[in-house]
Amino acid sequence: MALFASRPLVGIYPGSFDPPTNGHLDLLSRGAPLFERLVVAILRNTQKEPLFPVEERIQMIREAASHLQNVEVESFEGLLVDYAARRGANALLRGIRAVSDYEAELQMALLNRRMGGIETIFLMAGEEFSFLSSRMIKEIATLGGDVSSFVPAGVAARVRKKFPAQR
Ligand code: ADP
Repeated sequence: MALFASRPLVGIYPGSFDPPTNGHLDLLSRGAPLFERLVVAILRNTQKEPLFPVEERIQMIREAASHLQNVEVESFEGLLVDYAARRGANALLRGIRAVSDYEAELQMALLNRRMGGIETIFLMAGEEFSFLSSRMIKEIATLGGDVSSFVPAGVAARVRKKFPAQR
């Protein structure tokens, strides 16, 4: 019998996803097969003013990931390690795009391991998505650019509604 057969392998993919990009979706589709259940967890951050409310971000990821059977999407508040413990998670999933991501990710991974005893599994961003970030999407949209080749179709439609001047 497998050593870990007694409980399912649960991963948590935490982030802001404001908005979700093709890079997030690529990481999600490559990460999902590594777990029995993979939970996308959107932080309810009361300090930052988001572009999209959390409920809409949940909806956008659910739509774009509907073909991934073992993926769930929800939000959480408070410390990630407390949420992970409540969800019975085995590991966190994060993406690394460039060396610039590494330092902050290392710090977070070590903190989460120290505070919650939980490991972080890193996947490298797909090379065709490694330049993509939610921040850049917001910047392009604010300046009237077209983001449709960088985000799932449902996200592009919602961005267009917010920035009607878009080409
Ligand atoms: P946070 O605000 O926590 O950084 P993000 O929504 O920006 O949340 O990102 C969530 C996770 O997805 C992070 O691990 C980030 O490195 C990863 N990620 C973001 N953009 C991409 C991308 N283009 N390709 C792969 N992974 C990405």
